[in-house]
Amino acid sequence: MQKIVVVGAGHASGQLLDSLRRGGSDAHITLVGEESWLPYQRPPLSKKFLSGELTVERLAFRPKSFYEKHDIHTRLSCRAVSIDRAAQTVSLANGEALDYELLALTTGGRVRKLTVPGAGLTGVHYLRGIDDALGLQADWQGRDKVCVIGGGFVGLEVAASARRLGKNVTVIEMADRLMGRAVSPAMSGYFLGLHTRNGAHVMCSTGVTELVGTHGRVSGIHLSDGREIPADVVVVGIGVLPNQELAREAGLACDNGIMVDEFARTRDPKIVSAGDCTNHPNSLLGRRLRLESVHNALEQAKSAAASLMGEQLVYAQVPWFWSDQYNSKLQMVGLSQGSDFSVQRGNPEEDKFSLFYYRGNALIAIDSVNCPGDHMAGKKLIAAGISPSPGQAADPGFPLKSLL
Ligand SMILES: Cc1cc2nc3c(=O)[nH]c(=O)nc-3n(C[C@H](O)[C@H](O)[C@H](O)COP(=O)(O)OP(=O)(O)OC[C@H]3O[C@@H](n4cnc5c(N)ncnc54)[C@H](O)[C@@H]3O)c2cc1C
Repeated sequence: MQKIVVVGAGHASGQLLDSLRRGGSDAHITLVGEESWLPYQRPPLSKKFLSGELTVERLAFRPKSFYEKHDIHTRLSCRAVSIDRAAQTVSLANGEALDYELLALTTGGRVRKLTVPGAGLTGVHYLRGIDDALGLQADWQGRDKVCVIGGGFVGLEVAASARRLGKNVTVIEMADRLMGRAVSPAMSGYFLGLHTRNGAHVMCSTGVTELVGTHGRVSGIHLSDGREIPADVVVVGIGVLPNQELAREAGLACDNGIMVDEFARTRDPKIVSAGDCTNHPNSLLGRRLRLESVHNALEQAKSAAASLMGEQLVYAQVPWFWSDQYNSKLQMVGLSQGSDFSVQRGNPEEDKFSLFYYRGNALIAIDSVNCPGDHMAGKKLIAAGISPSPGQAADPGFPLKSLL
């Protein structure tokens, strides 16, 4: 029986295993994960899970019985430390070596760490996994002043969850606007207003020079403008790095992610890779990129599973992503960077609007707030290369679906 080893038990692996068994693979499969959890959904960690509206059981990608029923062997709380491609083995931190005929690397990403003095104080948190979220929940109970360093998606979702719990929240962002790498200035402005209206204190264009503490526990933050602000709990959300070292040390090409082709194959015919850890081509966008999104992890994993089964399923989709902050659901399709202009549909003051981004005459992306219809239609329009005129896009009465 063919032996497949999957390293990394996250979103991509959950989908990959599902696709393998659904596709009829009867391979002997072993899933290796360094966390103690079976694959689970990370998005709620900064949203409903953190604010206490969702239990840990609800996070699982598939129940434990799925792995038992499909005869998937698991090695949890166990890190893969090296790959010997010539011998086709993966060595684990517990000393075990697993043979493989085919290997999938779904190692995801890890948080970028803050390096200023005091970053190691107790009370300084990061958020990537369930254990981080449980640690943060326990720590901020009975503590009021929550400072979030980093105004990206995760940081802002944590800020919104903390406000929901009535905490005193400050967000510190080095750039001059929120979520600056992902959304346009107009959308950043909307979210700044949203957080401010909901009682969070947001400081843009502000750096952190030091975290200070008493008895080993954080108590304040020194800012780049010389001020010091008090903090009972600090949450750092300053980006994610791809977990590519295992692949790189095994001689696989890596460049901001494990290099794969449109079928999720590395240059070793026995190894595929999918999810946050990959740098992959996207023929619809005409370039290579690394994405950190559930959609990317799931869809690329389907291509990886197909490759493992000797089939070919091209991964070329218009990227999409979402973020929930307070009662505003941001849904993004396409990548708005490099657009020439945008057109607004709906009304930000009613928390219900979309921005349509154009390059020349072509619609390349839509960011929507509480407009799922625009998002759904936009996905199809962009994938089909159909562009409403700016006038049609700006008219909320114009049915976008009629163009499909
Ligand atoms: C708080 C939070 C909120 C998010 N919200 C959204 C959202 O709203 N929308 C959205 O689209 N995306 C969101 N994301 C991003 C999304 O969760 C990721 O894109 C997705 O989890 C990527 O899946 P993955 O399988 O590639 O990696 P992961 O889910 O990170 O899984 C990788 C797994 O591999 C393990 N691993 C790594 N190296 C090894 C090794 N050597 N040996 C064994 N195991 C290893 C890791 O511990 C991890 O468990 C969010 C992420 C976070 C952290």
